Amino acid sequence: PAHPLVSAQGPVVDVGGLKIGTDKPVFMCGPCSLESEAQVHETASVLSSLGISFIRGGAFKPRTSPYAFQGHGDVALEWVRRAADATGMRVVTEALGEGHVPTVAAYADLVQVGSRNMQNFSLLKAIGKTEKPVLLKRGMAATIEEWLLAGEYLLSHGAKGVIFCERGIRGFDDSTRNLLDIGAVALLRYVHRLPVVVDPSHGLGRRDLVAPLGRAALSAGAAGLMIETHPDPASALSDGPQAVPLGELGSLLGRLVSAEGAR
Ligand code: PEP
Ligand code: MN
Repeated sequence: PAHPLVSAQGPVVDVGGLKIGTDKPVFMCGPCSLESEAQVHETASVLSSLGISFIRGGAFKPRTSPYAFQGHGDVALEWVRRAADATGMRVVTEALGEGHVPTVAAYADLVQVGSRNMQNFSLLKAIGKTEKPVLLKRGMAATIEEWLLAGEYLLSHGAKGVIFCERGIRGFDDSTRNLLDIGAVALLRYVHRLPVVVDPSHGLGRRDLVAPLGRAALSAGAAGLMIETHPDPASALSDGPQAVPLGELGSLLGRLVSAEGAR
């Protein structure tokens, strides 16, 4: 095959002893941006009390406008690492550029490649060389074959496993932020036999649709979900409209998991 290492990988990836792609769905939750040490600690304590295994959040943000909040940088990696260690969680966070790779690899358990960087081949090579497991978000205009080949770049340079993340592609309709490709999830899971995490937050861009699309994703074979949450979405520095209020995350997870058990 054109992507021998991806084809050989299999549907389960180990992230620090946690096996992603087994029966129990994994949840990766947290704010879009790591905004302050207090926000990160409040978030971590709620997530850990809900049994969530990963805290997410960006220290380096790929913002459409250069005038929008760009992230707090390295100090935010320290906040999230400390909060995760204090609560027994794992960290997934994005390396936005090659220059961030050594620090992100040192602080994260799972290195995220953002949608806008899926075909940044020098970044993929640099991340691969760290030999970390990687969460590879689908480019917003990438075909499945291009996505698989991006995974091949990571694995062929040393990545310890690639988890694919469907986060929506550009459709023709702007009623939702993106077009969440549930078919791609089933294809990767059942035809290519790979682990896929679905991000309904960026997929739809609205918090009220996270639950129904999260259920759809799990039904289609997703290994887990990435969900943005914020203690006070109205004051979020990025992606407030899609953030689930932290206080409502527990009931949301209950709805997702009970639907999962009922099918
Ligand atoms: C994110 O998850 O923080 C993010 C920026 O998402 P995406 O790369 O999918 O737009
Ligand atoms: Mn976001």
